[in-house]
Amino acid sequence: MDPEQRYSRLSRYAPLGAVLPRWQESHCVLIGLGGLGGGLALLLARFGVRKLTLIDRDTVGCENLGHQALFTEQHASQGLPKVQAAAEVLAAINPAVELDPQFAELTRHNIATLCAGATLLFDGLDSYFTRYIVNDHALHSGIPWLSAGVVRGELSVRAVLPGVTGCLRCLLRDPPPPGSVPTCSAEGVFPPLLGVANALQLEQAGRILGATFTAEDDALYSLDLPDWRIQRLQLSGPQPDCPACSGNYDFLGGQYDQQAVAACSEGRFELELGTDIDMAGLARRLAEESGWQLRPNRWCLVADYGSERYTVFPSGKLVLSGTDDGSRLNHFVAVWLGS
Ligand SMILES: [Zn+2]
Repeated sequence: MDPEQRYSRLSRYAPLGAVLPRWQESHCVLIGLGGLGGGLALLLARFGVRKLTLIDRDTVGCENLGHQALFTEQHASQGLPKVQAAAEVLAAINPAVELDPQFAELTRHNIATLCAGATLLFDGLDSYFTRYIVNDHALHSGIPWLSAGVVRGELSVRAVLPGVTGCLRCLLRDPPPPGSVPTCSAEGVFPPLLGVANALQLEQAGRILGATFTAEDDALYSLDLPDWRIQRLQLSGPQPDCPACSGNYDFLGGQYDQQAVAACSEGRFELELGTDIDMAGLARRLAEESGWQLRPNRWCLVADYGSERYTVFPSGKLVLSGTDDGSRLNHFVAVWLGS
């Protein structure tokens, strides 16, 4: 395909055309492939970025289909890991983009490896806590970070350019306690806002790539659609009392590990058996029992029982979501895996 023709509508829009070559040399890392990350993935694949790393720990469920543009009913019926489903779609859109799907939960231990070589970091996270890890990593490694959040009819977007802008901790020293802020899964989302947030993220990223982003651009953008409130809050760069901007990367260093466990285990429980699982045998035993809805695929087995969702990996890892009762996971192991 002729690149000139392919990208002609992008290059003719001067502000994008001026930085399109920078985009096409860039390695973009998307942390979280929900509504926000999925929208970015589709756009960045069409920009023809050099490399896209996709990081997400979840499988596609039917509850994603209402607002996550990347995924199809077929992905949900197979229970595919979001990163694998995304890689299939993105490869079909633009095979020139190098794809790096990472089916993993981002932690302080793996962030440096998963984000190695990144030009830009984008987050589309529902977890406030993980954002603090990303914030530390962005500052520590000097990689620009485009953060966004959308819930209900509200959005906020902020670009963090290390050394020029302030950071997440300049605004909010510690993560809000789990359950104290609205989430998309609990309160829903107006899907078109995801595209607005993506537009703001990519516009600011373009200015960073084009080296026209300055300290005056340090701002928090927010939109409250039901109230028609659009705001640009001017911010004033790194705050002298901010630990992260002063070089103390507490979230990377593990000082907040206990909170991490609380934040990440809210409604989600994990277990490592430390031994391989006979996936075919497990699927057979579950299929013989009524009440189970099974979606096996190449990477994992997704087994739904009422509201409980068990995701089982051949490596011996199990994840339970959809309940507050973590002991159900031990019960599952005892009954179905005989240990
Ligand atoms: Zn800061």
